[in-house]
Amino acid sequence: MPAESLLPAATSQVLPATTAPAAARAAAPALSAPQRALRKLGLLRDIDLALHLPLRYEDETRIVPIAGLRDGSLAQVQGTVREARVETRSRRQLLVVLEDDSGAALTLRLLHFYPSNQKTLAVGATVRARGEVRVGFFGREMVHPVFKAVAPDAPLPQALTPVYPASAQLPQAYLRKAVASGLARAPLAEVLPPGTVPAGLPSLREALLALHQPAAGTPLETLEDHSHPAWQRLKFDELLAQQLSQAQAQAARALLRAPAMPGRAGGLRERLQAILPFALTGAQQRVVAEIDTDLARPRPMHRLLQGDVGSGKTVVAALAATTAIDAGWQCALMAPTEILAEQHFRKLIGWLEPLGVGIAWLTGSRKGKARRAMVERVASGEAMLVVGTHAVIQDDVVFARLGLAIVDEQHRFGVAQRLALRSKLEQHSLEPHLLMMSATPIPRTLAMSYYADLDVSTIDELPPGRTPIVTKLFADSRRAAVVARIRQEVTAPVQHPQPRRQVYWVCPLVEESEHLDLQNATATHAELAAALGPGVQVGLLHGRMKPADKAAVMAQFSAGQLQVLVATTVIEVGVDVPNASLMVIEHAERFGLAQLHQLRGRVGRGSAASACVLLYTTPLSATGKARLKAMAETADGFEIARRDLDIRGPGEFMGARQSGDALLRFADLAEDAALLQQARALAPQLLRSHPQAAAQHVARWLGSKSDYLKA
Ligand code: ADP
Ligand code: MG
Repeated sequence: MPAESLLPAATSQVLPATTAPAAARAAAPALSAPQRALRKLGLLRDIDLALHLPLRYEDETRIVPIAGLRDGSLAQVQGTVREARVETRSRRQLLVVLEDDSGAALTLRLLHFYPSNQKTLAVGATVRARGEVRVGFFGREMVHPVFKAVAPDAPLPQALTPVYPASAQLPQAYLRKAVASGLARAPLAEVLPPGTVPAGLPSLREALLALHQPAAGTPLETLEDHSHPAWQRLKFDELLAQQLSQAQAQAARALLRAPAMPGRAGGLRERLQAILPFALTGAQQRVVAEIDTDLARPRPMHRLLQGDVGSGKTVVAALAATTAIDAGWQCALMAPTEILAEQHFRKLIGWLEPLGVGIAWLTGSRKGKARRAMVERVASGEAMLVVGTHAVIQDDVVFARLGLAIVDEQHRFGVAQRLALRSKLEQHSLEPHLLMMSATPIPRTLAMSYYADLDVSTIDELPPGRTPIVTKLFADSRRAAVVARIRQEVTAPVQHPQPRRQVYWVCPLVEESEHLDLQNATATHAELAAALGPGVQVGLLHGRMKPADKAAVMAQFSAGQLQVLVATTVIEVGVDVPNASLMVIEHAERFGLAQLHQLRGRVGRGSAASACVLLYTTPLSATGKARLKAMAETADGFEIARRDLDIRGPGEFMGARQSGDALLRFADLAEDAALLQQARALAPQLLRSHPQAAAQHVARWLGSKSDYLKA
C-alpha cells in the first residue's frame, strides 16, 4: 500500500502512530475509534482532510453586551459570575447569574450538569457563553449555552469556528484538529497557469483557508449558499478535473482502431429498407446518417441514441446492424430484460431472417445443449446478429468478428458490462463500435459533464399517426370508476377485423418484498377477473414466473387473446403491443418519474386514442405530488427528464454512474452551469499548452477515480 493511502503523516499531531517509520507502523497499536471513523469517511490523505468542508460555522469572534441582547437572537456574551445556585424546588437545575461591563445580568440555566460545570461557573469566574437569548418575565436567560471559563483579557478568535459533520466516534474537537493539520500540510501549490482560473477567484490555498477558517466578519450567507468566491474556486477546480479527465478519455479513444464499415450498394441495408412496412421519419433518417458516418470510420463509435419512448429506436438499431453485416462484421444487441430482448429478437427475425441473416438468441434461461449450439454459431460467425440479455457478455461467448455492439436501455447496465461488451473483440486488436440507446434523455448539463466523451444522436419526432396519451390522476378510493373504464375500453365496438382494445394494469413494486409484489398482483388479477366477468380475458405477468411462462403470457397478450394484462414492473421497458390503449398504474406515487414515463409509453403505440390512469394513495409526499403533476402535465420525455432532474437532483439521475464516487462533491450541475462552461472551454486548451499542469490537476482531484470516469 502506498504510504499516502495510510493514515496521513499530516495528522501526526492527532494521530501519533502514523509518524513512525513504515516498519514500525505495522506493529503500531490498533487504530483508535476516531482514527477508524476518519478512515471510514475516506479522509486518508492531507488533501482529503483539506477538502472536508464545514457544515456550518459558529461566530465566536464577537461579544455582545448583555444589555443589548435581543430576544431570540443567537449571541456570545462574556461576564463575571455573580451568583451560582442549585435550585431544587420544581426541577433540579443550576442557575448562574452573569454580569458584564454593561451592568446588565443574564441567567444561564442548566438542566443537566456535572460538578465540573459548577466549578467552571463558580462565583467570581469570568465566563464566555454562547446560546439563544430569551427575554422573559424573569429577565434575560440562556438555556444550556455553550460556555467556558476564560481569563478576563482572553483574546477573541479571529476566524469563524467551523462545524464539521461529527459523530460519537468522531468528536468535533478531534475533527477540527485533524482537518486543521491536514490543511496545513496538504500540498496546495497552484498548479494552474496564471490567467486560466476565472477572474476574481482566489487560489486554492486561499479558498480552503477561507472556507475552514473564515475571517471574522465574513458574510455567512455567501458561505452557506456556496456563492462565496472560495466556493466558486473549489467548484471550478472540480469541474475542470472532470472535464480534463473526459477530454483525456476522448483522446485515448481516438487512438483506438475499429473496423471501418463503408456502406455497400445493393447490400442488406438496401434490401431491409425496401421491405420496411413504413417510411422512416426525418429524425430517424438523420440519426441513421449520423451512425453511418461513424461506422464508416476506422475509429470506434461511442454514440448515444436518445429518443422518447415509441420514437422508433429499434429500426435504427436494425439498420445499423445491416451496415455492420454488409461489411462482414457481426452485430450484438443487448437488452436488460428477457422480455425486451425477445421483442427485439422477434422484430429482427421478422425483418432480417427472410433476407438470409443468421440470428442467434442468448439469454439466461437458455441453457445446456441449446445454449452451446448458439454459442457455437456465434463463434463460427454463422450468426451475424446476436440478440440477448447479459448472457451475451458471458465469458464463454466468443465472437468470430464482433464489429458493432448495441446496448438498449443503456442506463440499466453498468460500466463494467459495457466494458465487457467492448472487450469481445480483443483478439483483433480492434474495438467494436458501440451504440447505446436510451429513452431517458440526458439533460444538457449532464451531457456536458459526465457524458462529454459521448456523441449524442436524438430522435426528436414520433412516427406519424400517434394520438397523444391523455393522463388522468385518480385517488385509489375511485378504483371502481377505473374498473368501469376498463370494461368500457375492452368492450368498445371496433371495426372488424381489428382486435378488441387492450389494457395494462401495472402493480407497484413493493420494496424489498418480491413476495408482497406477487400477492398484490395476484389479488388485483382476481379482483379484475371477477369485476369484468367471463367475457373478458385477464392475464397475469410477474417477476417470479419462469421466462417461458412469461413469454407465453406476453405472446397471448400480443396476439389479442388477453384483453387485460395485470403485471408487475416486468413490462417496464420496450414492450410493443400497438393495440393496447389504456394503462392503469396502481400506487403510481411509488414509481420514479422516468419509470412512469417508460410505463406510459407502452400505450399510444397504435392509432387508437390512448389514456393512462395513475391511481394514487393519499397522503402524498411532496415528491410524489410533484411527480404525478409532471406526468399529468406533459408527455414529452425531455421535459419529464428535466423535471426529474429538478425533483431528484443529478446524483440520482445517471443509472450506473451514480453508484461510483465519481459524482461531484462541490459543484452542482443545476446551479453551476456557468462555471461548467468555463471549465469545459479551458480543458482542451490546458491539455494542449500545459499537459503537465493538467495531469497534476487531475491527480489532485480525482486520484484513482479518473479511470472510472473513462469507462
Ligand atoms: P422505442 O424507441 O421506444 O424503442 P420502437 O422501436 O419500439 O420504439 O418503435 C415503436 C413502434 O413504432 C414500433 O411498433 C415500430 O415498428 C414503430 N415505428 C418505428 N418507426 C416508425 C415509422 N417511421 N413509422 C411508423 N411506425 C414506426
Ligand atoms: Mg425500445
